[in-house]
Amino acid sequence: MSKTPGEVLEMARKNNIQMVDLKFIDLPGTWQHFSVPLDEFDEGAFTSGVGFDGSSIRGFKTINESDMILVPDPDTAFIDPFCDVPTLSLVCNVYDPMTGQNYNRDPRFVAKKAEAYLKETGIADTSYWGPEAEFFILDHVRFDQSQYAGYYFLDSDEGFWNSGAEMNGHPNLGYRPRYKEGYFPVPPTDTLQNLRTEMVLLLKQMGIAVEAHHHEVATAGQGEIDMKYAPLTRMADQLMMFKYVVKNVAIKHNKTATFMPKPVFQDNGSGMHVHQSLWKGNEPLFYDANGYAGLSELALYYIGGLLKHAPVLTAFCSPTTNSFKRLVPGFEAPVNLVYSQRNRSAAIRIPMYSSSPAAKRIEYRPPDPSCNPYLAFAALLMAGLDGIKNKIHPGEPLDKDIYDLPPEEAARVKSLPGSLEEAIAALEKDHEFLLQGGVFDEDLINAWIEYKQKQEINQIKLRPHPYEFVLYYDV
Ligand code: GLN
Ligand code: MG
Ligand code: MG
Ligand code: MG
Repeated sequence: MSKTPGEVLEMARKNNIQMVDLKFIDLPGTWQHFSVPLDEFDEGAFTSGVGFDGSSIRGFKTINESDMILVPDPDTAFIDPFCDVPTLSLVCNVYDPMTGQNYNRDPRFVAKKAEAYLKETGIADTSYWGPEAEFFILDHVRFDQSQYAGYYFLDSDEGFWNSGAEMNGHPNLGYRPRYKEGYFPVPPTDTLQNLRTEMVLLLKQMGIAVEAHHHEVATAGQGEIDMKYAPLTRMADQLMMFKYVVKNVAIKHNKTATFMPKPVFQDNGSGMHVHQSLWKGNEPLFYDANGYAGLSELALYYIGGLLKHAPVLTAFCSPTTNSFKRLVPGFEAPVNLVYSQRNRSAAIRIPMYSSSPAAKRIEYRPPDPSCNPYLAFAALLMAGLDGIKNKIHPGEPLDKDIYDLPPEEAARVKSLPGSLEEAIAALEKDHEFLLQGGVFDEDLINAWIEYKQKQEINQIKLRPHPYEFVLYYDV
C-alpha cells in the first residue's frame, strides 16, 4: 500500500513520534543511519531530502565528492521497536546534490531500475521474491581486536554451544541438539522458540507478513524465519528490517545473532535460498501443467540464464570469503550448476509443495544472507531475463544423486566457483547482462570489485589463519 508523506507525518503525530531515523544502504549491504527530531522534519524532506556527509560510507565515493542527499521513501515507514522514545524509521534513496540525480552506487536505486527494466522488456510486470534467510544465535563471541590477528573466537568451551539456560554460571547442556539434528525437535531441545516468536511478532507489527519460523539443522542455535513473498525492492527492504529485528532481539536477550554464512566448522552453514517468479497482470508466468515439474518454457529459460551466469552471480549472491566455506558438499548447500525437483545439492530446486499455478516458482539455493539483497535480487533478475531473451535452455534436469552418476557424466556437471576471488574474476569477465537497461553500471561494478579485492580478499590473504598454527607451528 502506498503512503503519502502527509499520511506518514499523520501517523507520526498519532504515535507521539519524537525522532525520525533516516536509514540507507551502503555498498556491501548494511544499514547506516542518522536521526532528526520530528520538529525539524516536514513534508518537504520527502522531495528535497536531507543532507549528509557520505565520505566515510563503505563503497561510496571519496571525500571531495562526499555531500549526499537522502530522500525518504514514505512506503518504508515503520515505528522502530528498539528505540526508547517513539521513533519513526524511514528507508531513503541516496541522491547526488551535484547532479540532482539518484546516486549510481545506491543499491536501492539498482533494485528500482531492475524492476523498471523488467516492465520495459514487456516480458512481465512484477517479480516476486521469497528469501529464506538462516542465521545463528550464539551466546558468547569474543573478538580479538589486535591488528595482527583480528580473529573472532567463538568460545570453544561448552558455553559456545549456545542453546539454553545457564545454571550456576554454566550452560545447561542436558538437551543440546545432537550433531546436525537441530531440525527440528521441540523445546527444551529447541531453546530459541520464544526468541524467534518475539522476532516474528515484531516483524508483523512492522508490516511484514511471515509464513513460519523454525530451528535449523545446525547444532549451535541455527534458525530460520520465512517471510511471505513480495516484489523485489520491497523484499530487499524487508530483509534489512528482518536482520535488524533478529540482531536486536538477540542482543536484548544477551545473545548475538549472525548472518555470516559459515560460522561453525563442520556444521551446516546459513544459506538464503531465494524463491522467484514472474507475473504479468494476474498471470503467473512460470507455470505450465505439462512442463517438467510444472514449469513453463519461459521458466526454463529463466533457469537457463541463472545457470549460465551462476559463477558471476556468486559475486553478488555469495559475496564474502566466508560464503565459499558454506558452498561445499555435505551440508545441504548447493555445489552443482544443475536444476532438479528434489536434489538439494542442485543450485536450483523446483519446490513441489503445491500444484497451484500461483505457487509455481523456482528456488535458487546458492545465495547466503551476507549478500546485499538489492544487488543480489537485481543480478538474479537480470540473469533470468537474459535467459528468457536469448532462449537459453538449461538442458536436462538432474534428479539423480550426482554421486550415482557414471564418472564421465559427473565430470560434465559444472560447479559453483570455489572462492570469492574466482567469483570476482568471473564478474570482471562477464557482466554485459547486468548492464542492460542501465540497471548496473561500470562504476558500480568496478567499485564492487575493488571493495571485495582490497577490503576482503587481500585482507584475508594477509592474515595467518588459526589452522595454519595447527598445521605448521612445529615445522
Ligand atoms: N543451511 C542450508 C544451506 O546452507 C540449507 C538447509 C535447508 O534449508 N534445507 O543452504
Ligand atoms: Mg526453509
Ligand atoms: Mg532452511
Ligand atoms: Mg529452501
